Amino acid sequence: MRVIRSKVLGFCMGVRRAVAAAVAEASSETDGSGRVYTLGPLIHNPRVLADLESRGIYPAPETLTAVNLDDCSLIIRAHGIDPRFEEDLRNRVGRNSQRSFPRIVDATCPKVKASQLKAKELAEKGCMLFLAGEAKHAEVAGILGYAALHGKTVCTVVSNSAEAQAAAKKLYETGEDAKTALLAQTTFSEEEYKTIGNAIKKYFPDLEIVDTICAATHDRQEALRELLEQVDAVIIAGGKDSANTRRLFAIAQGSGKPCALVETAAEVPPSFRDFEIVGLCAGASTPDSVIEEIEKF
Ligand code: SF4
Repeated sequence: MRVIRSKVLGFCMGVRRAVAAAVAEASSETDGSGRVYTLGPLIHNPRVLADLESRGIYPAPETLTAVNLDDCSLIIRAHGIDPRFEEDLRNRVGRNSQRSFPRIVDATCPKVKASQLKAKELAEKGCMLFLAGEAKHAEVAGILGYAALHGKTVCTVVSNSAEAQAAAKKLYETGEDAKTALLAQTTFSEEEYKTIGNAIKKYFPDLEIVDTICAATHDRQEALRELLEQVDAVIIAGGKDSANTRRLFAIAQGSGKPCALVETAAEVPPSFRDFEIVGLCAGASTPDSVIEEIEKF
């Protein structure tokens, strides 16, 4: 069997940066007194999370009530957070011996930060916003928070063109002569984004479409499409909770070729032994060590 790796795969800049920031923070806790918590899992990959825990870095409990904020560091992950929540955390900073706690390390990906600031700017200008993404995704929640900073809820999340059309129709029927803009979760599909834009334009032809989709996502998706033309079957390596990994898997499924989404080598289906050429691609939260392990297997 021959294994061909996708030309682009694995950790993206934002994830690499966030992991490095957390590890650096844990290393600076030399007296071992404080814990390092990440606001949500730093990355959607169980292997990486286990490795981080071995270094003293833990996902914070959801409510934070069980966390002693007087004695810890909090890492804002690449997805970012709602700015109102961040302000609340910063207001709770107290003094503990020589340092202020909790120490807040902002590891929001610069590309996500750009989306957040754009949403804020457009909302302040009075734009009604549509945000293409997964309603429950942390990045979406953060961007919604920036859009709501000036006090009005002006942003509607849509995940496909049918939802976009329904939301645009509803806004149109209010009779409000609204200026509108569309943004996307950074990992959103480009094709779906175009269809969403077209659906909204039926009601708001002057819709401003902001390009917020991350090139890391596009590059992985394009490389996978190229790979699919050369192989009999494909393996997508990555966390099953990772949005960008699931997108890659959907593209592989759409090709009609046999495909599997696996987190470890042990999950590779035995039937893959029968293929002559197998492609290997990986989401933006998959570490090099896992990719290598699966390739060897
Ligand atoms: S996929 Fe892009 S936007 Fe998301 S964390 Fe990685 S580099 Fe940042």
